[in-house]
Amino acid sequence: MITASNLTKKYGEKTAVKNINLSVKKGELFAYLGPNGSGKSTTIKMLMGLLEPSDGSVEILGEPMHLNNTELKRKISFVPDTPDIIGKLTGNEYLNFVASIYKMDKETYKNKREELVNMFELGNDLGVLVEEYSHGMRQKLAVIGALMHSPEVIFLDEPNVGLDPKSNRELKNYLTDYVQQGNTVFLTTHTLSLAEEIADRICIIYQGEIKALGTLAELREQAGMGRTLEDIFLALTDGEDVHVQEHTES
Ligand code: ADP
Ligand code: MG
Repeated sequence: MITASNLTKKYGEKTAVKNINLSVKKGELFAYLGPNGSGKSTTIKMLMGLLEPSDGSVEILGEPMHLNNTELKRKISFVPDTPDIIGKLTGNEYLNFVASIYKMDKETYKNKREELVNMFELGNDLGVLVEEYSHGMRQKLAVIGALMHSPEVIFLDEPNVGLDPKSNRELKNYLTDYVQQGNTVFLTTHTLSLAEEIADRICIIYQGEIKALGTLAELREQAGMGRTLEDIFLALTDGEDVHVQEHTES
């Protein structure tokens, strides 16, 4: 579903993402973890075809991803880390706009939108200009917009930041169901408990490089028994060498 081969991004002298190789399967919920500045957003933008890799390549749904592959981009979706939605639109106008981009038919749009708007309790605010929204409300609107057309692959960059506890719970349940229906989710988060709870596999990166990749049980086993994800994460992203090897695909 999602394959990155030797994916690399350099910003001038700085290498933000170094030779990332990973493959996310259909129906998998994949958590991509790492401290601030470790290259998570840069990786996501390259996977999404929003940023040109300096080296390496990306395949999504078996097709090569390029900046101008709009057909492929229509099948996937993205929730960016900062929900920069045009402020001069109302929530309604934004969702109408998204539905038109994805060429959604009226009936599907109506139903999907109602389901998601109710789920995040945003119904009363849809007539309001986005510039008057709180961060959490923008985040909800971005998530609704991204999920509305039921993309086969969705990338979410720290989607739970700013969401209230109920919306967080709803999003968690939604994503869990979503992958059970055969869709694929690539998620970054700093909420390790969220990754522990819902991810099928976890990848930990540090300074642009993969430090560990596997199921939680595999990471625990390789790191030594009894380690929590937090222990493993902090050890791997703080110079301590616990020898967690990358697991190969079966
Ligand atoms: P994360 O999402 O894990 O916090 P990012 O991918 O945003 O990390 O950033 C990785 C590194 O690349 C950081 O050191 C950051 O400062 C740098 N970086 C990100 N975007 C740019 C850019 N447009 N120009 C220069 N450096 C950048
Ligand atoms: Mg980021």
